[in-house]
Amino acid sequence: MISGNRPEIKNYSNYPNYIYFDYQEIQDSISKSSLKKVAMISTAFKQFSNWNGKGRLTHIDKQKVEKIIKKAKKLKKPFRFWATPDSKTAWKAFSELGVDIINTDKPAKCFNYLNELPQKIAEIKSFSKVYTPTFKINSSKKTVKNIILLIGDGNGLSQISSTALVNNGELTLTQLKDIGLIKTQSADDFTTDSAAAGTALATGKKTNNRAIGVNPKGKPIKNIIEIVSEQGFNTGIITTDEITGATPAAFYAHQKDRSQKNEIATDLINSNLNLFVGGGSATFENLAIENKFRLIKSTNDLKKANNKVGFFISKKKPTPVQNGRDNILAEVTKESIAFFKQKQKPFFLLVEAAQIDSFGHYNDTNGIITESIDFDKAITEAIKFADKDGETLVIITADHETGGFSIPQGNIKNHLIEGSFTTNDHTATMVPIFAYGPQSHLFTGVYENTEVFFKILKSISK
Ligand code: MG
Ligand code: ZN
Repeated sequence: MISGNRPEIKNYSNYPNYIYFDYQEIQDSISKSSLKKVAMISTAFKQFSNWNGKGRLTHIDKQKVEKIIKKAKKLKKPFRFWATPDSKTAWKAFSELGVDIINTDKPAKCFNYLNELPQKIAEIKSFSKVYTPTFKINSSKKTVKNIILLIGDGNGLSQISSTALVNNGELTLTQLKDIGLIKTQSADDFTTDSAAAGTALATGKKTNNRAIGVNPKGKPIKNIIEIVSEQGFNTGIITTDEITGATPAAFYAHQKDRSQKNEIATDLINSNLNLFVGGGSATFENLAIENKFRLIKSTNDLKKANNKVGFFISKKKPTPVQNGRDNILAEVTKESIAFFKQKQKPFFLLVEAAQIDSFGHYNDTNGIITESIDFDKAITEAIKFADKDGETLVIITADHETGGFSIPQGNIKNHLIEGSFTTNDHTATMVPIFAYGPQSHLFTGVYENTEVFFKILKSISK
């Protein structure tokens, strides 16, 4: 294809079969025989706009650009602008405008970006019904009776922001007023994993990555569930991970490595938990779990359940929301709270939305947001209960951020988010913590993840 210095258009057809031309004179008419020799149509972008490729085209420029593209498309040849801005924002804008050939000095980067874009864009169709808390008991100095701790694994600020933005700009979570930031570094690494972060939240001690409820030397550390159980609390754990996953395990197990599934499972069986709900029944096939826990088959059975009860929602890891997991996290949260409430004793309930992290690792925006909306539904159940109960403190946080997730673009009206990722691993950025109920003010400020443990103990001390 000849571009640059070309022969006169009327002479195109005099050239051999294998030679084509870049047609740059859209304003002129062209004969059928010359058009046959046209490989692409090009024109200078600067004639229509001075856009620098940041933000977006002005409405007036966009109209001009659309008009020329429409005109060129009538000739049914690939269309290109030259002298264009050369950025992700520009590549995306030109591709959406229907420009067929993107002018760039970074063809590989441009290809990868546009190729991966569909996976990075989420268009959300199912929403969280936002509950507005009464704030009657918020920040009161009253001693807390019950604790509900909700952990969104990998639920950083962009995860929360994107989820709120697609959910008409609001979540139940974003109604809350007492907010802090926690630092997540582990004992042996700048960037934590879920085992060390879970252990920090559960025990108030920093440990090494991969360690579950043990210190850097491998010695068991008492966790919050063990401590409050001794004080007469009923305790429970709900997760959308396998129940032996690192986050839940940090609240009942003591093992050097998160991969020691069988040992962790045995710790669960021997734990003083009154209730657990999660995936991963396969791990327990040869373990005598039914000597300790009555295993139930549906959320409804929770109503009739006695003291030690377990509910496996899947053999392995539970199905993601985007592949059809129903509303089970919120339902089980609601029914577990009712289960504890009946017993009249104080309770500590941990709820983990585990798969926000999984989709951060997969760099899948839709997965992150659908799991995070699912999380907000569970948060809603906890906050509603706290309002009715008046003695329950609800704490919502994350163990770390996953994906280096950011949200360069989106569309609130269409519930659309473009995600961008800097890694398929965790990041060291601070994560938000929200609290609601009596003593919620204890959780404001910027502090280490280990402080969460001490703040919980403070909230329940008489
Ligand atoms: Mg987890
Ligand atoms: Zn992770």
